[in-house]
Amino acid sequence: MTDRVDELRAGLAAVHDRVTTACAAAGRDLDEVRVIVVTKRFPASDVDLLAGLGVTDVGENTEQETRAKYAEVAARPTLTVHFVGRVQSNKAARIATVADVVHSVDRAKLVAGLDRGAEQAGHRLGVLVQVSLDGDPGRGGAPADEVLAVADRVAEAGHLDLRGLMAVAPLAGDPRAAFARLRETSERLRRSHRAAGWISAGMSADLEAAVAEGATHLRVGTAILGSRSSLG
Ligand SMILES: *Cc1c(COP(=O)(O)O)cnc(C)c1O
Repeated sequence: MTDRVDELRAGLAAVHDRVTTACAAAGRDLDEVRVIVVTKRFPASDVDLLAGLGVTDVGENTEQETRAKYAEVAARPTLTVHFVGRVQSNKAARIATVADVVHSVDRAKLVAGLDRGAEQAGHRLGVLVQVSLDGDPGRGGAPADEVLAVADRVAEAGHLDLRGLMAVAPLAGDPRAAFARLRETSERLRRSHRAAGWISAGMSADLEAAVAEGATHLRVGTAILGSRSSLG
């Protein structure tokens, strides 16, 4: 039987190779692209193994799982925890206390709760505005024409740092064309918020397309940790 640490090491190496190849194809430097390892539904023990392998950025998608898991993760102080799931209004403040960065802010209504939670936790919270690339409100994200207004509200909040934009590729169609639209929205955002240069895009299936369109942060789960469907 293979040790879990060997599986994780192999997963990280395979993704590192893919990112290296994608950066070379796009003429980008490898250090422009950061991999966030999405550990949702995997145990705290995996997070500690990943930290031991040099991982510094992890992603989660529910407040409850994040709170419970990181109470057990010994390496928590060395990690940046990115929240990438839907943010319910009544959970915004609690998410702000358990995460360091929230990628999925898609409406101005969330800003007050996030700001309050960050203040209570005594830290600054990084925020990305999630952009809808498919017009399906059920999958989250602000319509492109509302993104700047949400970003302005985030930037005005006392304990939030506006970092940039996040998106999930549409279920159908060419992810690269969708990520190209995200890049255009990012260019518009940076005219009024110069420091908000993060583009969080690309998952296990489409990270090459995201690198080609300027992604700065990839959110990769399955390709590193294996399938979540085998978990109970
Ligand atoms: C689960 C998840 C990911 C990782 O997806 P994989 O296909 O496992 O790489 C990335 N982003 C978001 C928003 C997710 O919910």
